[in-house]
Amino acid sequence: MPTTMPTMRAMILEAPGAPLVLRTLPLPTPGPGEVRLRVKACGVCRTDLHVVDGELPDPALPLIPGHEIVGIVEATGPGVATPALGDRVGVGWLGRTCGACRFCLRGRENLCLHARFTGYQLPGGYAEAVIAGAAACLPLPAYASDVATAPLLCAGLIGFRAWRMAPPDAARVGLYGFGAAAHILTQVAAWEGREVYAFVRPGDAAAEAFARSLGATWAGPSTAAPPVPLDAAVIFAPVGALVPLALAAVDRGGVVVCAGIHMSDIPSFPYRLLWEERGVRSVANLTHRDGLDFLALAPRVPVRTTTEVFPLERANDALLALRSGRLTGAAVIVP
Ligand SMILES: [Zn+2]
Ligand SMILES: [Zn+2]
Repeated sequence: MPTTMPTMRAMILEAPGAPLVLRTLPLPTPGPGEVRLRVKACGVCRTDLHVVDGELPDPALPLIPGHEIVGIVEATGPGVATPALGDRVGVGWLGRTCGACRFCLRGRENLCLHARFTGYQLPGGYAEAVIAGAAACLPLPAYASDVATAPLLCAGLIGFRAWRMAPPDAARVGLYGFGAAAHILTQVAAWEGREVYAFVRPGDAAAEAFARSLGATWAGPSTAAPPVPLDAAVIFAPVGALVPLALAAVDRGGVVVCAGIHMSDIPSFPYRLLWEERGVRSVANLTHRDGLDFLALAPRVPVRTTTEVFPLERANDALLALRSGRLTGAAVIVP
């Protein structure tokens, strides 16, 4: 009698714009330099929406989304020394880098010319198990549960990289779009003794209260001017119209950091908004170093995440909740 092939359940994107479908697939075997993780939790990121909506080109269909993965190493491929069997690790968006291009050689592997991304060009974590590159696995602090840790792996990491793009002496920082990333970053900023000005969707009183509860000095609608000029602003909402608003809110020499992978078009604006050495820049992915630094910092703050848990088969509901803006904090899928 043939032995039964081991399988796993996964939520699959078969076509952009279509709902994810639950499928049972053969359990994959890790190749050289790879590990297989038993997924304990996977956060839902706004980038997942851009992927399922077809706003990012050429996803590897059929695709398992998800790039905020907390898992336990249950199998290792040839040549893998770390992580070891049984280790609890995290995997984020930057799944593979080449190690040889002009960016990798300068320690800027977030800009790798041959990068592959988890849950987009590589299988992601909306599944019971996932194959990951051993080099992409990040050791996780023990202070928080699997569910509480998952949002740290993109919302936290990308937020942290965006944060470090603001001038180090920025005392007053605006955060536009108060979702998963901002709710983490507000805690880091307050712990560092900086003032956070939280800009939320006009009319979203609950988000304003949530921001204040996490340490924001001021919270108000994104269309409002802050009570004082800001030294920097980070935009998490995928809304290009926020760029001129944020430029108008920052002081001379202030920087506006766009932290998302996708944004609607930025409307034209008068040069005087950029004048006086104001700057606009984007943040792409993250380096392994960013990951290690942030995950070392998180327990010191300590960063607490607010999460809403969805079982694997309800991944579409998690995406819907994020899209509608009715989540407080982050959605996390638990297989
Ligand atoms: Zn490279
Ligand atoms: Zn993400």
